[in-house]
Amino acid sequence: KLAAYSALKSEPSVTRDGIPVDLMLNAGLLMDLPHLDETGAAGIGLYRTEVPFMARASLPQVEDQQQLYRRILDAAGERPVVFRTLDVGSDKVLPYWHGQPEDNPALGWRSIRISLDRPAILRAQLRALIQAAPGRELRIMFPMISEVSEFVAARRLLDMELEREERLRGPGALPSVLKVGTMLEVPALIWQLPQLLSRIDFISLGSNDLVQFLYACDRGNPKIADRYDVLSPAVLRVVDQIARQCRTAGVPLSICGEMAGRPLEALALIALGVRTLSMTAGGIGPVKMMLRSLDVGGAEEYVRGLMDLPDRSVREKLRFFAQDHG
Ligand code: PEP
Ligand code: MG
Repeated sequence: KLAAYSALKSEPSVTRDGIPVDLMLNAGLLMDLPHLDETGAAGIGLYRTEVPFMARASLPQVEDQQQLYRRILDAAGERPVVFRTLDVGSDKVLPYWHGQPEDNPALGWRSIRISLDRPAILRAQLRALIQAAPGRELRIMFPMISEVSEFVAARRLLDMELEREERLRGPGALPSVLKVGTMLEVPALIWQLPQLLSRIDFISLGSNDLVQFLYACDRGNPKIADRYDVLSPAVLRVVDQIARQCRTAGVPLSICGEMAGRPLEALALIALGVRTLSMTAGGIGPVKMMLRSLDVGGAEEYVRGLMDLPDRSVREKLRFFAQDHG
């Protein structure tokens, strides 16, 4: 099978009925970069910047960060890279960062909440990202946004850093193209999409956290891992609603949680209109193999029908459908 996946890497990522679907890589370590060529990924859809922060003994300086981000952009070449700003707290701890113990860390002081309360850290990171990309395209994404005003505040810090860079080094030091987006992983943001979508260039649905919060079910607790299935009417409906609004607004949507890298889940997502999936390297071959035999036109109605099921049979039904349809 591995040989079959590898043979697919230079084949187009297009469904049987001709719909292109971008398969991107989730990355965090330099070690992940060779996977770009090995898998034929269209780019890095999620670069988790907290990973190098976690692997160090102290907060990295702007210069260190800048060099790292530049290496990632160099490795990607013409392919896009989405840098997600620091997403620490909850399950991602920095050894040199000691916050107060919290009763509910997943709901606690984490991610963009820390970044907005300690803007010097976020500004240093944004400065490093800008300095890594003079004359290049730069994509920046903010994690765990739960209100439009948080996005606006983070975006303002980015604008301040862009102005600073331009003042100090001139317009040539700026990225040639800048795209700024947000993760959608807090349910409250779903009902702010009309206000959010006009302010962002792209959106990436983080199904790991979003589903954890939708089902009030700790994503890391094996005891309750079987309590829900991401292939459920509720999750399909949520994805459908988000995908529709993004399409209407003309804002590109990607999915970067674990579900995007599993063929059956990816089938459902593509049927609901998602056209960009970002996943670990191991997912790209299997998902590509699935989608190249997928007839989206035929799957759409079937997947929509699954949203009305009153029980937990979505996965099983979808598996039969997939077997029947190659
Ligand atoms: C997610 O929440 O789905 C996501 C991609 O982010 P992380 O897994 O890094 O929290
Ligand atoms: Mg997350």
